[in-house]
Amino acid sequence: MSDPVRVTVGGATFTSFQVGKINLKASELIRKGTELPDGITPDTNFDLPICNGHLAVGEASIVIDPCDYEELIQYERRPEGYVAPPSLLSQLSGRGVKAEDVTHVVITHFHMDHCIGSTMKTSEGTYVPTFPRARYYLGAADWNSPMLQEDLKSTPMAMNSLGVLGRSKVLTLVDRPMQVVPDVMIVPMPGESPGHQGVRMTSQGGDVMVHRRPLSRCYGCGRSEDYGGLERP
Ligand SMILES: [Zn+2]
Repeated sequence: MSDPVRVTVGGATFTSFQVGKINLKASELIRKGTELPDGITPDTNFDLPICNGHLAVGEASIVIDPCDYEELIQYERRPEGYVAPPSLLSQLSGRGVKAEDVTHVVITHFHMDHCIGSTMKTSEGTYVPTFPRARYYLGAADWNSPMLQEDLKSTPMAMNSLGVLGRSKVLTLVDRPMQVVPDVMIVPMPGESPGHQGVRMTSQGGDVMVHRRPLSRCYGCGRSEDYGGLERP
């Protein structure tokens, strides 16, 4: 398991940690029409790391892109021989964060590796929000996209995650920069989906943007420590 990435900005601490990897071919990883770099063919395999984020600032405990790897792997390919790290919830708990402590969940975009951990299966086989006290934030343009609206009617992984958040009335749709707590903004930005968004943290003069790099430029994603994008604007 790779070491977590930790960035402190003033009084805010961002941690990124890996919860799993999925195997994808280049053709599944990039947008149609994207030119392939030298040495990459549509069949080239990548083991794509899935990283979750946690941001602690003041009273707020913010999870970014929650992924339940065991749930996801029912729909995606596990790399051969790969043994996944502990689950999102156990890694959070190892950092002293219990599910009920989480106040906000930001989903950078609607791809399932970024949100399938936003809900969990109960012993009765139904799905409920994983973080019972949290408000969840998704880009409005993602929620309203015809693709997601269709998936919410017909695709179990979307119905059991984002669909449950919608029905549970815990979802806020973001269509403009939105301050969620002092020092933390959700910012719509170009990315992998129409409603892609990042998280900007400013604290005591610091200024860091957490986001996902568009997949069409994501050939370096074999670097497991890479959250996907973490930069100082
Ligand atoms: Zn994605």
